[in-house]
Amino acid sequence: MCGVVGVHAPGQEAGAIAALGLFALQHRGQESAGVAVAHGDGVLVYKDLGLIAQVLDERRIGPLHGESAIAHCRYSTTGSTLWENSQPTFRIGPRRTVAVGHNGNLVNTRELLEGLPGGRSRLVGTTDTEVLTALLAQEPGEDLVDALLHLLPRVRGAYSLVLLDEKRVIGVRDPHGFRPLVLGRLPLEPVIAASGGSDPAGTARLPWAAGEEPPAMGGGWVLASESAALDILGAEVVRDVEPGEIVVLGEPGGPRSIRFAEGREHLCVFELIYFARPDTYLLGRNLYEVRRRMGEALAREAPADADMVMPVPDTGAPAAAGYAEASGIPYREGMVKNRYAGRTFIQPSQAMRQRGVNMKLSPLREEVRGRRLVVVDDSIVRGTTTRQIVSLLRRAGAAEVHVRISAPPIYHPCFYGIDTAVETELIAARMSVEEIRAFTGADSLAYLSIGGVLSAIDLPRDRFCFACFDGNYPVPVPYDVASHKFVLEEDGVPASGGAR
Ligand code: SF4
Repeated sequence: MCGVVGVHAPGQEAGAIAALGLFALQHRGQESAGVAVAHGDGVLVYKDLGLIAQVLDERRIGPLHGESAIAHCRYSTTGSTLWENSQPTFRIGPRRTVAVGHNGNLVNTRELLEGLPGGRSRLVGTTDTEVLTALLAQEPGEDLVDALLHLLPRVRGAYSLVLLDEKRVIGVRDPHGFRPLVLGRLPLEPVIAASGGSDPAGTARLPWAAGEEPPAMGGGWVLASESAALDILGAEVVRDVEPGEIVVLGEPGGPRSIRFAEGREHLCVFELIYFARPDTYLLGRNLYEVRRRMGEALAREAPADADMVMPVPDTGAPAAAGYAEASGIPYREGMVKNRYAGRTFIQPSQAMRQRGVNMKLSPLREEVRGRRLVVVDDSIVRGTTTRQIVSLLRRAGAAEVHVRISAPPIYHPCFYGIDTAVETELIAARMSVEEIRAFTGADSLAYLSIGGVLSAIDLPRDRFCFACFDGNYPVPVPYDVASHKFVLEEDGVPASGGAR
């Protein structure tokens, strides 16, 4: 996944504002965090391994002054969890200075690397973003926008990018729009005013499209992976960055839109099912409401004779509420979550995942004892988490456990920015639904159909990527599945081994 934020805020501390927005995106990546700030003559970057609150505290952000900034939190889909692979990536190149925050995953990294003089030896980290950054620093052209227009036609895969040069913030969404990126307007009153900043807030303007009335002046502009990050800043949603579009913030005439490719949207449907926050809006849909309707559809498709509907906290809650409403079975909490343990799915190794689930969930014994439970979750990837949850509830005295999943079975791996596991680790790729039921120890198991997902979203199927469910990859994946994540680590990882 990864979360990205870009801010251009005249007269304000853009680094602090970007870091503040990033806090709303912690769920998108928990391995590292960072911010890059432009101060007119250069770019300063601070990043480290750890959660946003651990990395981006006031002591580190305070000295980073400037009106333009980007911020990033990482969840690895290419390259190990090393300091060198944390973002924003940064390069002072022969032609320009650039910092990059990337959400998504490229599928032709090796091919792109062949176009970099010096190849792998010129890289600091081992990620697709590192290759992109090194190329952008040396691409021909007057400035970073020219470099993007030159490079992007050769880049394949998923990328929602925020980029920074010495003055400007640039947002880019790939022609398929796999990952979200929303543009917002900061409030007129300063979010975090610069101490002694030069320009007053409110100088930005937006000549948005020919013939269109420019929106009123605002206190600056923000790009973010999810609208939830705009809410935390008091910013208003302007619109989604469109697939195949570049948006430039921080130029004298106001924001500029450039189309670099014909866009054909394939937004990751998993963003709606699970990844993005429930208070986020995607394609005009509030995700809590979408997920609640998925639960209603699941109750219609897979009813159960039970005493209580309970979610796997927290992400299963909206669908469980919908299931309870549609079935008439009471909704109760049956487990509590340790909010300070990371999401098990997002941690990078299987051993960590297995330890994580025990750290994370505890049963409410009085609630589940003697009851027939419908347990609603949003996905089964490897099956080990579901098996542990069923076992946990049985040990707490549940009479029956009926597992209901508000998504279809995951048969295929993702190559566009989600570490769903290689195909051999995906339980649905190896087992039938009945075999998965037996593996997890549930009394019954059912998944929501693709039709059920679409009925809840109420938009046409061709606007989404469903590849992990149906195997139809919108962008072909050219090389070996197994080596995908560590494509640039065949000769080893950087010497730090993760230590800074
Ligand atoms: S393959 Fe699945 S997880 Fe990956 S982008 Fe497509 S729908 Fe999303």
